[in-house]
This record gives sequence, structure tokens and C-alpha cells, in this order.
Amino acid sequence: MKLYNTLGRKVEEFRPLGEVVKLYTCGPTVYSEAHIGNLTAYIYWDLLVRALRADGYKVRRVLNLTDVGHLVSDGDEGEDKLEKGAAREGKSVYEVAERYIKKFQYDYRSLNLTEPEVWARATDYIEDDMRAVDLMTERGFTYETRDGVYFDTSKFDRYAEFARLDLAGLQAGARVGFSDEKRNVSDFAVWKFIQPGEKHAMRWDYLGRPGYPGWHLECSTIIEKELSAPIDIHTGGVDHVPVHHTNEIAQYYAMTGRDLARYWLHCGFITVDDEKISKSLGNTYSLDDLVERGFSPIDYKMWVLSGHYQGTRNFTFESLAGAKARRLNWRNRIAECYQREVVSDDGLWERVLAAVNDNLNSPEAFAVIDGTVIGLEDWKKIDALFGLQLIENSPDIDDGARELIAARQAAREAKDYAESDRLRDLLSERGIAVKDTAEGPVWQYL
Ligand code: AMP
Ligand code: ZN
Repeated sequence: MKLYNTLGRKVEEFRPLGEVVKLYTCGPTVYSEAHIGNLTAYIYWDLLVRALRADGYKVRRVLNLTDVGHLVSDGDEGEDKLEKGAAREGKSVYEVAERYIKKFQYDYRSLNLTEPEVWARATDYIEDDMRAVDLMTERGFTYETRDGVYFDTSKFDRYAEFARLDLAGLQAGARVGFSDEKRNVSDFAVWKFIQPGEKHAMRWDYLGRPGYPGWHLECSTIIEKELSAPIDIHTGGVDHVPVHHTNEIAQYYAMTGRDLARYWLHCGFITVDDEKISKSLGNTYSLDDLVERGFSPIDYKMWVLSGHYQGTRNFTFESLAGAKARRLNWRNRIAECYQREVVSDDGLWERVLAAVNDNLNSPEAFAVIDGTVIGLEDWKKIDALFGLQLIENSPDIDDGARELIAARQAAREAKDYAESDRLRDLLSERGIAVKDTAEGPVWQYL
């Protein structure tokens, strides 16, 4: 398999370190419902996991759920997202986290995404976070301010490398008065102190004061506990490169002296009707919104996979309808396999797998599927590779439906068109259409 590695900014042959591929995916902050943009990453990384398994690798995957500490900005200012959600809904932060973890996992399963081996909740790793801060402090990477414990990015000489940051430019562009206790503009909190009178329900005593972990810390800590680095693959959104992943790498090095990951994969953003997804534009569609408009979550998955993970994609309901039509077309090609012997074109499966192994080129794989004759056994393999529930949603018809088709044919031959129309309507009610061909009637899903 070849993958585009953000580390070297090029496509590289993937070679895992050990028997089991260690994979970590930055997960959601569980303070509100995921919109379709948030969900794209998990669809692409699901393909990655399925492709690795199709290639014969074992995979151990960890996905975190941020239920504390993620402030509204990427930096160290603003409200905690969970506190914001709690205030909005008049609930406790714990209730908010519980609600949106459930919702996220519901969406995740509706998309038929492979379960990670570990769902890691940030609040289950607080003790580990404290030990991580101790370690970084012992090794001289942190300093304390009134506001918290900060990571001194000047102590990690490769800090700018991963994201190719222009630190001098950042420093020059820093706002006046911006956290005057910070030594460098890129320094970030690994632990935040809760100030007297500050409202923050999730709090833990550490260094003699109540506080909570900085957002970036959980990923480094969870990886150390659940996988131990260097891991093989770390995935996230392209927005994670300059701050979140840069900080994860710095922290992990400060804790352990080791690198965090060998391959870094980042997916692009989607727009909706050529606009950025945002609350103010009213285009933060959830999966439920698509279902309400008559689409299946799997139609959305088809839409996502019909583009490359590194691209910037524009979502429209028109293009989603195109994905839905393609899925119906594929299901009807499976229906055809139940009605006559269909033999795959030579090399079909190898071509599909080769496209996916070529830096997850799912649009190319879809084009191969569109343009090639495919038999039932290969449809099963394709279905497992993309997780599209094609076979599950395309059962062979039962004897009752078969009898209706035969009766309709008999009525047609007897020129009893009223009866044949009645039987056609009965079949429609079962979601089945009948097409009359030179070889006789052929049924399809509606
Ligand atoms: P947010 O809750 O808006 O901070 O989003 C959480 C994560 O979802 C971000 O860090 C991105 O990686 C991802 N994300 C947000 N918006 C989009 C989008 N329009 N397209 C793809 N991914 C997105
Ligand atoms: Zn992360």
C-alpha cells in the first residue's frame, strides 16, 4: 500500500513496524452533534482500516472522544467546548458528553464504520495526563504561569518541522497583550488552572490547585497508554497539522524521547454549496438531516468515497442524489447476479484493490466498479472493502415475489393488462420493479 505521508509531503510505500498495525485517529469533541463535514474523516479512515485488513494486516486502532479540555479556539483561550454545550442545553457537562458520545457512536454505526479496538474517553486518562506533565516538567520542557503549565516550544528544536511553521512570522504576528506570561507565541497549555470564581465543572486537583488537561495532551497520553509509540499511522483532518498534531508530537517527544508516528494522514475539508460549513449559514447538516430528506447514511458514505480523501470536496444535494443513484445501480447489478450467471471481467478485484492501495484512491476504484462486469463473489469482496452494506440491502426475492412475477407474465401473455398492472403494483409495494426484456421479465429494486 502506498500512502501520502504528511511527514515527508510525499506518497510512500507503507511498511508497518510490527505484526499489528498501530493506528490512532483523532476523534470528536463531544459537545454537539457532528455535522456531515466532521464525519467525512471517519469514513476515509474506515476505508484505510478495511484496506489494510484486505491486504492481510492485523490492525489495532484507537479513537479518542474529547470530553474535556478542548477550548473554543485551537489555542488556550476562550471557553471549554463542553462547558459551552452544557450552558446551551441547561445540562451538566457530564450529561452533554454522554449524550453526544451516544449520538456520535450512533452516527458512526449508521455509516457501518469498523469499530475501533479502543474508544478512549479523555476523562479516563486524567491520572496519565498528570504523570505526562510531571515527565515533561522533569525533562525541562514546561514552565508554570498563573494560567497553567505551558509547553516551552523553544525546547523542542524540531517544533516547526512537521507543519513547516514560520515561527518568526508567527511571533511577529502575535497580538499585543496576548498572554504576556507565554515565552513563545507557539507555546501551549498542557494543564490549565481553574481560577477562583471560574466556572468549570470538570476539575481535578493537581499541583495543589483545581485544573484540567490541555486539549492536545490527551492524544499523546492515550497513545502512550494504549499503543505505545512510534505507532504506524496517525490520522486526522488537515486543520490538525499546524497546531494539534504539531503539539502532540512535541509533547510525546518531551514525555518519552520517542517520535509519535511514522505515517501521518490528513483529509481535506468539505464545503456545502460552495460555502464553508457554519452555523450562521444554516448548512451544518447532520446525518439525520440527510435521512429526513430521503437519503440513507450509506448514500452519504458513497458520496464521500466517490472523492479522494486529500481533496477539497463540495457537497450538494444534487451530488448526493447521484451517489444514491449509483448505489441503487450497484444493488441492481447484484440483483442481476441472482437471475443469471454473471462472471467478473478478468482482474476486476485486483484492479479495485490496487486503486485503494494507491493512496486510498476510492474514486478510481469506483470508476473501475462502474465500468466492469462483476459477479456475486466479487460484489461480496467489494462490499467488505468499502463497508457499503450492498449485499445486506440487496437480498434475493422470495417465492411470493417470484410467483407474482410469473403470474404477471402469464396475465400479459393472456393480454389481461388490468391484471398484469394490478400484479405490478403489488410488486412495487414490495420494492420490486419488473422490466420486460427479450429474454423475459427481469426484476430490479426500486
Ligand atoms: P469542529 O467541531 O468544527 O472543531 O470540527 C472538529 C473536526 O472536524 C475538525 O478538527 C476537522 O478536522 C473536522 N471538520 C470540521 N469541519 C469540517 C469540514 N467542513 N470538512 C471536513 N472536516 C471537517
Ligand atoms: Zn489528537
